[in-house]
Amino acid sequence: MSHVAGFGSEKARALAEVAEEVASCRKCRLWSSRTNPVPGHGNQDADVMFIGEAPGYNEDMEGKPFVGAAGKFLDQLLGLAGLKRSEVFITNVLKCRPPGNRDPLPDEVEACSSYLDRQILVIRPKLVVCLGRHSASYVLSRSGVRVRSRTWGTSISAVRGQVFRARFEGLAFLVVPTYHPAAGLYNPKLKSALVEDFISIGRILKGIREGSIPI
Ligand code: URA
Ligand code: SF4
Repeated sequence: MSHVAGFGSEKARALAEVAEEVASCRKCRLWSSRTNPVPGHGNQDADVMFIGEAPGYNEDMEGKPFVGAAGKFLDQLLGLAGLKRSEVFITNVLKCRPPGNRDPLPDEVEACSSYLDRQILVIRPKLVVCLGRHSASYVLSRSGVRVRSRTWGTSISAVRGQVFRARFEGLAFLVVPTYHPAAGLYNPKLKSALVEDFISIGRILKGIREGSIPI
């Protein structure tokens, strides 16, 4: 089916174009302190995308997302959801490492987010899993989800594990925010919450694939 192969290579081309632009990007200060850009990595035909915050030390060294300790834990969590890295797409809100792994600054998110937007629109996932508050905050507000909670804004606890319906430039998908895997490495409570959320993510994805959970 040549048109399917053609469609696939169009996606690959569009993702490669984003990665090339990221590699020469100077839209915020982070280009000057990074070692390598980390545009994102994975399956262009994934029905689920995982979005973290920003590259850390190891990611900056290797140019790939989630390759350090948090990444090893993420691999285990993916296993609980019945997923392999090769079938998902993983990226971050910021494509360059903030010095010392500090939090992303608002102007950096603003400068960088169009790359993530384009990746979402190319891959067209059915489910987006947000890893941590910065990712959840960007994706939920960008896709028109209004969160009614007094603690939302400072903490992801108010929304983690919940399923939101998102509309993003005419694309519809579900969003499940959860904790950042790095947070689960040192906090047993957050670790059990992550385990719980990833088991539920596996069930949600099964429902989406079988058609019992509408988008
Ligand atoms: N933390 C993130 O948010 N992203 C990575 O890629 C690695 C660690
Ligand atoms: Fe460009 Fe994003 Fe890197 Fe800033 S973090 S330089 S906006 S790619």
